[in-house]
Amino acid sequence: MIVIENLVHKYRTPQSGEFAALKGVSLQIAKGEFVVIIGHNGSGKSTLAKHLNALLLPHSGRVLVNGIDTREKEKLWEIRQQVGMVFQNPDNQLIATTVEEDVAFGPENLGIPPAEIRRRVDEAMNSVGMSQYKTKAPHLLSGGQKQRVAIAGIVAMRPQVLVLDEPTAMLDPVGRAEVMETVFRLNREEGLTVVHITHFMEEAAHAHRVVVMEEGQIVMEGSPREIFAQVDRLKELRLDVPPMTELSATLRKEGVKISPDILTVEEMVVALCP
Ligand code: ADP
Ligand code: MG
Repeated sequence: MIVIENLVHKYRTPQSGEFAALKGVSLQIAKGEFVVIIGHNGSGKSTLAKHLNALLLPHSGRVLVNGIDTREKEKLWEIRQQVGMVFQNPDNQLIATTVEEDVAFGPENLGIPPAEIRRRVDEAMNSVGMSQYKTKAPHLLSGGQKQRVAIAGIVAMRPQVLVLDEPTAMLDPVGRAEVMETVFRLNREEGLTVVHITHFMEEAAHAHRVVVMEEGQIVMEGSPREIFAQVDRLKELRLDVPPMTELSATLRKEGVKISPDILTVEEMVVALCP
């Protein structure tokens, strides 16, 4: 679905001149995959995300979305329709006076006929569990609900890939759980390819694959179990591990014989109370 080859991105600032935020990143993401990207602040996660739907273009290397090079100017709208982005701040993403108008905004811009828009909006609202809020004003919703509406707005455009850049960072735990449940369901039931950037390690526990970035490069890549078993390496990279992995590492240091790759509360309970 996505092929990134040797991607270099440079920013130019008056203070520090040219600065490479991505230093030769290569990554492939298969259709239907759920990939989580983690990494310390400034490691290049958002820059990478913006390359996935041509918000930024490579200085060298290339990015292919479903075989389309993001540098092909005449394919820009096709790429934007195929790869939807959700950002951190829910308040910056909703613009209409009602929730359903907001969700209709994307398909309207794609020039889709009104009856088809109606159908897509209803389906999208349903798939994020927000149908009962259709006629509400977006500003009356909770943060988690707003992010689900933002996701519905993308889903209504029938994308192949959903890219989420720290969509839960500004939410309370309830809102975070709502958003994650929604995103995992869209991946599982509708086969949407998901690229999820987060600094909450527990959100990575159920991903198919975890990619770790540091200073513009991919430094680790593997299943959540493979990645989070390397507690010391992650600490070097200034990253946390999921709470249960942390607990199992502490217990092991205290001499408790317990597996190093425990990720969830359920697994911890089974390990401690067989
Ligand atoms: P992350 O999302 O992992 O925190 P970013 O991709 O936002 O990282 O940033 C990577 C690096 O590029 C950081 O050092 C950041 O300061 C720099 N950077 C990001 N955006 C810009 C910009 N618009 N202009 C200049 N430097 C930028
Ligand atoms: Mg970022």
